[in-house]
Amino acid sequence: MGRLLAVDEYVAGIRRGDRALLARAITLVESELPAHFERSQAVLDAVLPFTGGAVRIGLSGVPGVGKSTFIDAFGMHLLGKGKRVAVLAVDPSSSVTGGSILGDKTRMARLSREVDAFIRPSPSSGTLGGVARKTRESMLLCEAAGFDVVLVETVGVGQSETVVADMSDVYLVLMLSGAGDELQGIKRGILEVADILAINKADGDNAFRAERARHELASALHVMRGASVVPPVLTVSSVEGRGVPELWQAVSDFWAAEQASGELEAKRRRQGVEWMQAMIRDGLRRMFEASPGVAASHDAIEREVREGRLHATLAAQRLLAAFRQG
Ligand code: GDP
Repeated sequence: MGRLLAVDEYVAGIRRGDRALLARAITLVESELPAHFERSQAVLDAVLPFTGGAVRIGLSGVPGVGKSTFIDAFGMHLLGKGKRVAVLAVDPSSSVTGGSILGDKTRMARLSREVDAFIRPSPSSGTLGGVARKTRESMLLCEAAGFDVVLVETVGVGQSETVVADMSDVYLVLMLSGAGDELQGIKRGILEVADILAINKADGDNAFRAERARHELASALHVMRGASVVPPVLTVSSVEGRGVPELWQAVSDFWAAEQASGELEAKRRRQGVEWMQAMIRDGLRRMFEASPGVAASHDAIEREVREGRLHATLAAQRLLAAFRQG
């Protein structure tokens, strides 16, 4: 990861908006080494007063829906409005396969060449909880570096969408027309937490179908949400750029309304509580794994459970006892 810098060097670089230093600070945040963890937390402490100013957008959609094409178009639109845009990714599959499919710069061809944009692929290792921490912290670093919009991308399958919804101010879901939502692998849960939905690929022969899908989805949401506010459903063509300005307008209207009503502040505080809990779980896990007693017996005990020679409950008790003894 290159030479480790002093906390002040990271902080000064980030504050200047230096993308190379921002990238190195994110690498530090992503590192699993205890010494790096301490330093990254010191960097975060120092930049914390300069965070919180960005519009935090979460974006989900199944592979192929057009996330990267959309982000490219959306990001370029924002740059045109004088905004600086950071794109991060939460990719649960990358921790399994070791490769990243999201946040890949080649997938955002125009945006990746722009000086006012910053694109970072998902950390390629760790549990979803660990990846979530790293992404949240990376988001803060981007804010301290002066990015006005931080967009966190994930696929809408598994648990990653909850993680992303929990760290964003506005949660955006991209969908396709012509396929039932179960076909799209979109879980009902995602529709319940979406703030704005967009049917992508509304162009050519598909434009009419997309419009119809928009209608159907809007009605379904109406039923699903009952008396509460129904999220806007739009159509976009990420390839043609059509509907992209309207979608940004919907996002900024939503954000402004949240801010005016105090909901933005309240939401971020709720997320803060969740974040704290997650950090505690993460910290306990670190301490547990670093404990010599646990390290000495962990693998053997796990093997016994796998081979059916020891019950899970007893195994957990033994390991926790080993942890308590240090
Ligand atoms: P991702 O996996 O969600 O990131 O999807 P991609 O952005 O890689 O897009 C998948 C495919 O859909 C690519 O071949 C894109 O060119 C195409 N695509 C994306 N957006 C649109 C769109 O608005 N209209 C059309 N016709 N194709 C699109």
